[in-house]
Amino acid sequence: MNTLVWIQREFRTTALPALQAALSEAEKSSGKVMVAYFHDENQVIGEANNVWLSYSLLQLKADFTALGGQLCMVEGEFSSMLNQVIADYQISKVVYSFQVGTPFEQMQQQALEVCKHKKVVLQPFYSEFLVPAGEFLNKQHKPYLVFTPFYNALMKQSHLIQPIEESVGDIGLTLKLKLKDKHQTWLSLPMNLQNLIALPWAKKIMQSTQVGEQQAWHKLQQFLKDDLETYQTDRDFPSLLATSGLSPYLNFGQINSSVIYYYLQSLMEEGHLKSEYVMPWLRQLVWKEFARHLLMHFPDTENAPFQAKYQSMHWQMDEQIIQAWQQGKTGIPIIDAGMRELWQTGNMHNRVRMLVASFLTKNLNQHWLAGKSWFDNTLFDADPANNVMGWQWVAGFGVDAAPYYRLFNPVTQSVKFDGKGEYLRQWLPELKHLSNKAIHNPWEYTEECRLKSIELGKDYPQPLVDLKQSRAQHLERVALMKTAS
Ligand SMILES: Cc1cc2nc3c(=O)[nH]c(=O)nc-3n(C[C@H](O)[C@H](O)[C@H](O)COP(=O)(O)OP(=O)(O)OC[C@H]3O[C@@H](n4cnc5c(N)ncnc54)[C@H](O)[C@@H]3O)c2cc1C
Repeated sequence: MNTLVWIQREFRTTALPALQAALSEAEKSSGKVMVAYFHDENQVIGEANNVWLSYSLLQLKADFTALGGQLCMVEGEFSSMLNQVIADYQISKVVYSFQVGTPFEQMQQQALEVCKHKKVVLQPFYSEFLVPAGEFLNKQHKPYLVFTPFYNALMKQSHLIQPIEESVGDIGLTLKLKLKDKHQTWLSLPMNLQNLIALPWAKKIMQSTQVGEQQAWHKLQQFLKDDLETYQTDRDFPSLLATSGLSPYLNFGQINSSVIYYYLQSLMEEGHLKSEYVMPWLRQLVWKEFARHLLMHFPDTENAPFQAKYQSMHWQMDEQIIQAWQQGKTGIPIIDAGMRELWQTGNMHNRVRMLVASFLTKNLNQHWLAGKSWFDNTLFDADPANNVMGWQWVAGFGVDAAPYYRLFNPVTQSVKFDGKGEYLRQWLPELKHLSNKAIHNPWEYTEECRLKSIELGKDYPQPLVDLKQSRAQHLERVALMKTAS
């Protein structure tokens, strides 16, 4: 009996139950195991995410090789390639780790159809959840819709968090399944991805980034050593780099939430870490879990507000305005700094993500899906569950959302979280000579701009909207919607 381990976003060799189960079964039954990632260019998340994916595949392949095993990277339309692999390698069982959102759920459905047709067993594992989503419900046996009760219940029933064995298993077994000559290309990065990472922007964006399981653990250790104690106080300040930076590693399964949870527990029990420092960070990690449960229960929220009454929202959809936001040319420094950070690094600080999302949907009245899709395309850590939850929360119509009438004032927020303008100066060099006072809202300091030879409208844009007026217009729209409903 030959087994296929289908990798989606579990880019690690250790602590991977689907792989462990396949290897141990093969050992008992003298079967063979193939481990494969299927790359279908029509079922991907976005460009920056694809760049991270490419480097991650290369690293995973190297990790498999170092352990005496083999990783296949199969390119082409998913259903037909899965069909082909099953037929050509006498696969009788496919194992995989269940993932939520697009494109994963569609591919899982296709895998189900292919396996049914081929009479092959398809077995999911739920290792990418702290607790399997379908089994963690409130007292009414319904999904949790508010984060704090979800978090409290999970911490109260932490025994439900699935421990995962660290071992790899006998990965050498994956070499026993000899690839046919016509499939030798499966040992190289898919052509589509090779072409992508050869592009100058892709090389540039990755130049100071390392991916992979080992790097994920290194980053976690460094964060625990240097930043955990100050996480709670510093995490909202974008210039401080006070967060873990683990989100792409988590989303690509290079490190796993359950494994982290038990690792932190053991460090606390042994007295190496204090719970007062660990718990605020763990709480953030549980937001990721919450997002995954929500999207599993409410898959339609990928494209529609969770709160149905907001489906009738009237959005302006002005291409020029959306472009100014995308390019960091809105004339509001904290928004532009965030959008330029995103474009140049594939990342954006969480506080700034909230500000740019609020500005786009509320001050500019542009569709939240335009923002979500830009994030999908430009974030390394673009993830269907976290991205949907983030956008719906900020726009005000997700579960547990910021009320629709509450708008962030980007200038006040900028003063509060980047008082000295360090973050602004990093991403907006044209404003770097402005004083700490003027840099947050230069249009109100025209004399200082003149003295520093900054011509608004030429060297830096005039604000795209008046903040006060756009806030009032937003509140009017909400009031109108309320009377209409
Ligand atoms: C509009 C918007 C869109 C977002 N889109 C994404 C996305 O596509 N992918 C993504 O991973 N995150 C997204 N987030 C959440 C958050 O911004 C990132 O997870 C965070 O910036 C990651 O930085 P970090 O790894 O240093 O986090 P840390 O502060 O070190 O937190 C540790 C981990 O907890 C999880 N986490 C932290 N904050 C959140 C949160 N608010 N929601 C869900 N999980 C969280 C992440 O997995 C993170 O890596 C979005 C937030 C907003 C407001």
